[in-house]
Amino acid sequence: MKLDVLAIAAHRDDVEIVCGGTIIKMVDLGKKVGILDLTEGEMGTKGNAEERALDAERASQIMGIHYRENLKLPDSGVEVTRENKLKIARVIRETRPELVILQYWIQRHPDHLYSSQLGYDACYLAGLKKLEIDGEPHRPRKIIYGSSFLDARHSFYVDITGQMDRKLEAVRAYKSQFNGSPESNRIYKPGTDIFEFITITAMHYGHYVGVKYAEAFSIKENILIDDPSAMPVTSI
Ligand SMILES: [Zn+2]
Repeated sequence: MKLDVLAIAAHRDDVEIVCGGTIIKMVDLGKKVGILDLTEGEMGTKGNAEERALDAERASQIMGIHYRENLKLPDSGVEVTRENKLKIARVIRETRPELVILQYWIQRHPDHLYSSQLGYDACYLAGLKKLEIDGEPHRPRKIIYGSSFLDARHSFYVDITGQMDRKLEAVRAYKSQFNGSPESNRIYKPGTDIFEFITITAMHYGHYVGVKYAEAFSIKENILIDDPSAMPVTSI
């Protein structure tokens, strides 16, 4: 399956929480969109791998994505090894995305940190002709980093006002994690209602760019522009 966009993250629900609105928006725009989860989330306080698989399936349907795979790396044991890089490079060669979305490069959770590094390295390796894996070489045209967990330096925002309801619905699909019980409010950040947090964060970012809800992204490279007068609005 040839994809336009592939989001890579450590755990099921990471993509939905960080950039689910943008994923849905890309689907709305007619793009082929996929998600690669690196672990099955079996070390999570609540739920197990099977429950989280069903949750992810429901979330995928809500988002309307075209592809979802799981590399089954050990949860809480994601490591930056050549073997893991090649596993991801294989998926990149199979799905041939133009755009890859990774988790931000500074993270508290080691799995998130290493998943971001693995994703970056895999994008590079997948383009090498002489790499020791099957498939035609392919290097994504662009890597962007979803960064809504942190007060990171953001490069741009995506208006998700028309997708916000479905984003929340996709996160809500993770019934094993976020079922409204007092203990589920301790999973994400102690005492935090995740839906409230997601909503406030999206409103906060939306405020920067004059829309109701937005998601934030960072890029490492600079952007070359021919006509600055045609640039989209970046702030108001
Ligand atoms: Zn995670």
